[in-house]
Amino acid sequence: MTTMGELDLPTIDDLGSLDGRRVILRSDLNVPLDGRGGVADAFRVAATAPAVRALAKARARIIVVSHLGRPRGPDPAKSLAPIAPVLAQKIGRDVRFVAASEGMIAGSPARQAVEALTPGGVCLLENLRFHPGEVENDEEFARSLADLADLYVNDAFGAVHRAHASVDALPRLFGAKRVAAGPLVLREVEHLGPLLREPGRPFVAILGGAKVSDKVAVIERLIGRVDHVLVGGGMANTFLAAAGRRLGASRVEESGLDAARRITALFDERKPGALHLPVDLRVGAGVDDPSGYDVVSVDGDGVPDDRMALDVGPRTTAAFLEVLRPARTVFWNGPLGVFETPAFACATNAVAQFLAWHGKDGDDAPASIVGGGDTAAAVRRANVADRLTHVSTGGGASLELLEGKALPGLVALLEAAADTDGGGNG
Ligand code: AMP
Repeated sequence: MTTMGELDLPTIDDLGSLDGRRVILRSDLNVPLDGRGGVADAFRVAATAPAVRALAKARARIIVVSHLGRPRGPDPAKSLAPIAPVLAQKIGRDVRFVAASEGMIAGSPARQAVEALTPGGVCLLENLRFHPGEVENDEEFARSLADLADLYVNDAFGAVHRAHASVDALPRLFGAKRVAAGPLVLREVEHLGPLLREPGRPFVAILGGAKVSDKVAVIERLIGRVDHVLVGGGMANTFLAAAGRRLGASRVEESGLDAARRITALFDERKPGALHLPVDLRVGAGVDDPSGYDVVSVDGDGVPDDRMALDVGPRTTAAFLEVLRPARTVFWNGPLGVFETPAFACATNAVAQFLAWHGKDGDDAPASIVGGGDTAAAVRRANVADRLTHVSTGGGASLELLEGKALPGLVALLEAAADTDGGGNG
């Protein structure tokens, strides 16, 4: 498989004249919704806008496609419809949303909408995951999408680590001079590649967020690449529960317990002292409890039965900052607590402020890389995003790049670009 070492990705300039040509643009519009029919954080829509603007300026006819969330089949709560006006506002052009019936993303309504596009016109198709073929990397589904377009551009950095139809099978149906990486993918790969290939040391990874199962394999592989791993958020609960600690009503992922034990043992054996778990926890009655005063020690009685661990505690925060102080590279994926509630954003904010200011007046500041929607939202809330080295739109993708893995979406682009027989979508 192609390694991600020196990438020579095809760019939009390699596609020749775009005037009047139909371009399918795989974007990452996987944004948090506010539950009231609106968008809670438009960061990824804003990150998508430059690609759409560049294609529109070149008079392409643009078909934007994306996934949103993890629906299994059509689900009105996961429709991309609310994104269309937000995208329209960011690009300063109309965006025609094409609804799908029964998961038919690329059916006749889509074909008609594409036919009706004038040069510079934009349409947005429904959530790709409404069709089961998307996550199955199904070639038939990919072909139905390919039939809509002359050219393919992937600008969905947040999805390049997934071997899904719109990311993997689809570009392979185009071929040389007909596929390209968009500006966001190029910028992410350019920034992240060198930082993660030759990191300054000590290299510290901070991992948080809610779920362990998504990231287990990553933590196991990080052992050979980073010097320290700091674990917080809901993920730390699972590690603490696996070590026999009392977690009360905290979120613990039962299916992740074995993996947590295995990882802990692996670090003890291969890198003793490199895995840092919380020594105290900030607890509350629920995620909406605004008090946030109670702190319990992990070694003592632990979390009372009617309380949940919602942030790591002050002693843990101080210990984490000590590990971070000499770091030359810091990679952060996943908030350390339920940062959406201010009382449980303490540790996340402390780390965000540290990364923004530590050593910045001399040359002691570490290269700081933040990846993923929630962590990016957290550093923006803390008003420090523009003081960090790089804020990536892709959590999973940046983690896999850090692991040194080949990303399926980039491999597909490279292989399609080398396919001079044209990929069969003639
Ligand atoms: P993920 O999607 O796995 O990156 O998880 C991000 C979410 O984890 C954020 O919305 C946080 O509110 C949540 N989170 C962080 N710490 C905890 C915790 N201790 N318990 C429950 N959820 C948490």
